[in-house]
Amino acid sequence: MLDVGRHPNIELLAYSEVEKVEGQAADFRVTVRRKARYVEEDKCTGCGACAEKCPTDVPDAFNEGLGTRKAIYNYFAQGIPSTHTIDADYCRQLNGKKCGICEKTCQADAINFDQEDRIIQLDVGAIIVAAGYDVFDPSLIPEYRYKEISNVVTAIEFERFLSASGPTGGHLDRPSDRAVQAEIVELEKRANKSQRALDKFEKKYEEGSGEFYENYKAGQYKDDEDYKKWADKYAGHLAIVETLNTLKRKAETFAVAKRLAFIQCVGSRDFRFYPFCSGYCCMHSIKEAIIAHEHDPETKSTIFGMDIRAVGKGFEEYKVRGGNKSGVSYMRGRVAEITGGPDNKPIVTYENTHERKVESREFDMVILATACAPTKGIFELAKILGIELNKYNFVKTSPQSPVDTSVPGIFVCGCAGSPMDVPESVAQASSAAGRAAEMVFQSQSEKEKAVA
Ligand SMILES: Cc1cc2nc3c(=O)[nH]c(=O)nc-3n(C[C@H](O)[C@H](O)[C@H](O)COP(=O)(O)OP(=O)(O)OC[C@H]3O[C@@H](n4cnc5c(N)ncnc54)[C@H](O)[C@@H]3O)c2cc1C
Ligand code: SF4
Ligand code: SF4
Repeated sequence: MLDVGRHPNIELLAYSEVEKVEGQAADFRVTVRRKARYVEEDKCTGCGACAEKCPTDVPDAFNEGLGTRKAIYNYFAQGIPSTHTIDADYCRQLNGKKCGICEKTCQADAINFDQEDRIIQLDVGAIIVAAGYDVFDPSLIPEYRYKEISNVVTAIEFERFLSASGPTGGHLDRPSDRAVQAEIVELEKRANKSQRALDKFEKKYEEGSGEFYENYKAGQYKDDEDYKKWADKYAGHLAIVETLNTLKRKAETFAVAKRLAFIQCVGSRDFRFYPFCSGYCCMHSIKEAIIAHEHDPETKSTIFGMDIRAVGKGFEEYKVRGGNKSGVSYMRGRVAEITGGPDNKPIVTYENTHERKVESREFDMVILATACAPTKGIFELAKILGIELNKYNFVKTSPQSPVDTSVPGIFVCGCAGSPMDVPESVAQASSAAGRAAEMVFQSQSEKEKAVA
């Protein structure tokens, strides 16, 4: 990616959208909207001082909404260009409120609230669609209860948990435990606020709230509105503190997830959704199980799948290494159901096809290897480009010309065309670039011949 950023023949138009495409092969005119970042790309040094001071928290899409970022943000650490962007939906200043803290903080003078979208036009010979994929929505499979059981997560969410820059700093904290921790933080804020209100009463009447409350209940105070408020406030405070202490005691028992279940083919190889294999999920589950074991050697993972498709050089060896050295076991069979167990521990019910028995096992966390689904924006993009999609809404190609779309001069690579892993996507990108160059040079030489 860094190479792309500094390649003299590549102009990178990040945070931009194609709006219109006219013309034909070797002679396309493309209209692109360069969206306003409200930060000058050429001035921003990416130091992050603005984000540190920004008071507005926003769900972090890069972390699958599992953590928060600021209204001024860098989408992810290694992004090119390394510039910040203001999220116009959430920024206080851009929504008519008073703020502008980032502008005052930025030493590079990069903040520009007056920036507007810019429309630019490009004349190009060929177009390559590399719009990728989306993760299949597992809530479409009700028996896996993705939305109901918090410790059932998707593989992409799990990867964010494993990441040192993710919402848990790389610790496998269970989502149910994180929810309790978040409740504790919220209750602590409320307890502090109500304590401040009680302090005022205590100062005014020179009496501790506890002592006052006992006397109030014993009927020692006359029917005064202020005393009633104090008593209500104290009763509310006691209730908050009691819940807080209960949750804190519960949190002392929390431990990182150590028994992991990976469920393969969630939406893939399933006639209700995508009947074909997504190609990469067997390997990413093995990778994730191995990394989880590197984080904590007590971690044991079970990968449930109809078969493990370790297709590629060294992949089978990687799978075997997972089993021998990283506490990974492979269970052949399709998982029928996931149900909620005690202490938010999901229970996986499956057929053990070796033993020919239906079994159920409890885990700390279940990870769903979701299918590669077409990217949601592909319909709009296909309309703009005039290209056809296949019946699963991936870009239509033919087996003879796997990177050619239905429109000459427009090519496709990677998961926009069909599911594939990174090495295959990169190889296909080279192939698409080769086809595009071939087409452009052919057209140029035909033009030159015609002139001669
Ligand atoms: C949990 C998980 C783990 C994985 N782990 C591995 C692994 O370890 N190794 C491996 O080889 N593969 C792995 N994969 C598969 C890998 O993610 C894909 O093979 C790879 O991302 C495909 O690359 P791509 O460029 O085709 O698509 P993407 O990576 O999806 O990139 C497409 C890009 O296009 C952008 N885009 C979309 N629409 C538009 C538009 N209209 N205009 C402008 N930009 C647009 C998107 O924002 C995105 O940045 C994993 C997949 C998952 C789900
Ligand atoms: S103006 Fe305020 S809310 Fe908006 S990005 Fe800057 S610091 Fe954040
Ligand atoms: S790669 Fe594995 S998990 Fe993914 S669809 Fe194919 S068989 Fe299923």
